[in-house]
Amino acid sequence: MASKTMTGGCQCGRVRYQADAEEAEAYLCHCRMCQRATGGFAASFVQLPAEAVTWQREPDWYASSPIAKRPFCSACGTPLGFRFNEGAKGIDLTFGSFDDPSGFVPKTHAGAESLHEAWIDTSALPRQRSDETESVVSRWHSIGREVPE
Ligand SMILES: [Zn+2]
Ligand SMILES: [Zn+2]
Repeated sequence: MASKTMTGGCQCGRVRYQADAEEAEAYLCHCRMCQRATGGFAASFVQLPAEAVTWQREPDWYASSPIAKRPFCSACGTPLGFRFNEGAKGIDLTFGSFDDPSGFVPKTHAGAESLHEAWIDTSALPRQRSDETESVVSRWHSIGREVPE
């Protein structure tokens, strides 16, 4: 199978990566450390072999526990992933940090002991686009720009 090169990075663009996503495994982690580290109800990760990821510019790293560290951008704060310290063949990149994450489909729920059931199936909730949200549109228009994607 041919390699599937994908790109991504942080919100401000300082940290960028390239990844061969051929062996990508997407999943959610609901553990409390991932909730805190990402600020979300869960962390959405894409796991890859470590050698499949090339950083164009190295991220910053912090020890999120005695057994793992997490890459992030110290300029904008974007959480970029997760990696175990010892014996880790893989690295996780955050789903949202990919330039086009739309093709990844989550396969498992990790950290299920802290899973918030009410946040799992939200498909029936009302939906509103940013470019239909007056409080957002008026602010972008006030600086002479359209709402970004
Ligand atoms: Zn950044
Ligand atoms: Zn976790």
